[in-house]
Amino acid sequence: METKVCIIGAGPGGACAALQLAQLGIECIVVDKAVFPRDKVCGDGLSGKVLTILERIDKGIGERLQQAAFKMDSWGVTFVAPNRIGMDIPYKPDYQKHKNDPRGFVCKRIDFDNFLVEELKRRPEIRLFEGVSIDNYRLEADGYYLSDKEGTFQVKADVILVANGAHSAFTKDVAGIKMEPEHYVAGIRAYYKGISGLHTDNFIELHFLKNMLPGYLWIFPLPNGEANVGVGMLSNTARNKKINLKKLMLDTLATDATMQDRFKNAELVGTIDGYGLPLGSKKRKLHGERYMLIGDAGYLIDPFTGEGIGNALYSGRIAAQQAAAAISANNFSDKFFDAYDENVYRILGPELEVSTKLQKLIKYPWLFNLLMKMGSRNKQLKELMSCMFHEVDLRKKLGNPLFYVKLLFNR
Ligand SMILES: Cc1cc2nc3c(=O)[nH]c(=O)nc-3n(C[C@H](O)[C@H](O)[C@H](O)COP(=O)(O)OP(=O)(O)OC[C@H]3O[C@@H](n4cnc5c(N)ncnc54)[C@H](O)[C@@H]3O)c2cc1C
Repeated sequence: METKVCIIGAGPGGACAALQLAQLGIECIVVDKAVFPRDKVCGDGLSGKVLTILERIDKGIGERLQQAAFKMDSWGVTFVAPNRIGMDIPYKPDYQKHKNDPRGFVCKRIDFDNFLVEELKRRPEIRLFEGVSIDNYRLEADGYYLSDKEGTFQVKADVILVANGAHSAFTKDVAGIKMEPEHYVAGIRAYYKGISGLHTDNFIELHFLKNMLPGYLWIFPLPNGEANVGVGMLSNTARNKKINLKKLMLDTLATDATMQDRFKNAELVGTIDGYGLPLGSKKRKLHGERYMLIGDAGYLIDPFTGEGIGNALYSGRIAAQQAAAAISANNFSDKFFDAYDENVYRILGPELEVSTKLQKLIKYPWLFNLLMKMGSRNKQLKELMSCMFHEVDLRKKLGNPLFYVKLLFNR
């Protein structure tokens, strides 16, 4: 088979790239080793970015997602500091007035990713192959030659978009990006039923417990009385302290006074599973001759929040636009794809930089404790943090230590 664009991976990043290409009238082939619906270990938290980008590609997709029954609308985040003081920060300061427009959702990836795959199937420009793993890639003068292990599936493409996730062999072997434990998080996830004390407006909860910093334990409410519960921790911290994440989570739920009470009648549904989170806390080269890396394959996860779906979608859309430019210029050179990195880092870079600083700052529990103490008493600070979800400039302030010094002296 021959195609102009072949996308490896039909997760959020690859699916978004394919949908954007289709919208531009460009045909593509998408190959995924899984057969959908398939699960993906994740916190299942979708920020406002997800809806924004899908609406930008096609308003219809946004509308269909808004109406989907499998997701839980969420109106904000509860941050809990190491001293266990919590603060509710809505995604919008006056969210009670905009109850028909939630900008955050929680939904199981088995449902969300299948929703996107169903969108791929609606488009005649997209040919989707499921249950096929791309294991061989050979660059020739006239294109990339891809195949599965046995060579029974073969495709030649002018350009490939690599969206095969955190464990991408292409990223390691061809792009030369190696896993660095200081830029990587190890995460585990479980589903529970019957947890008490969930927020009435389904705020997602991030518990920055002292023994997990700069990582955290999360509780994200799902439909049908379920919740996604997990722990993420920097790989070098977990490695240095020889931490078993599963044990840490189960011990915390069983022995921490608050959690013990809230999980008293809760029941674990299914197994506890783990996966890696490649962080965007370091800038990397995301392209080469005839290829671009998307989402987790390009290490684009937010180092503070662990959010990767939104960034996978953004990078997928930008890669599709760059692929379209390459096709019309008939130029698939390494140099031509410089513009991909420029655009990705122009759009996502400021946020990634701020989050990298925040990730470093929360290593200091006293600072976090102080901020929460002040925030719980100070309406202005609360509103400021609420606006932080939309305004990167504001997040920049939060990433600057001087901001806290000023705050302390202006009390
Ligand atoms: C524990 C944990 C919690 C997380 N919580 C959140 C959260 O709450 N919110 C959030 O936004 N992000 C979260 N993330 C990050 C998020 O899961 C990822 O950033 C996101 O899935 C990236 O999407 P992607 O399309 O790049 O890759 P993926 O979703 O991993 O998709 C990759 C696809 O490629 C396919 N594939 C792999 N290899 C091949 C191959 N050789 N050939 C063909 N196909 C292949 C796979 O089957 C898969 O379908 C979390 C991650 C973890 C591990």
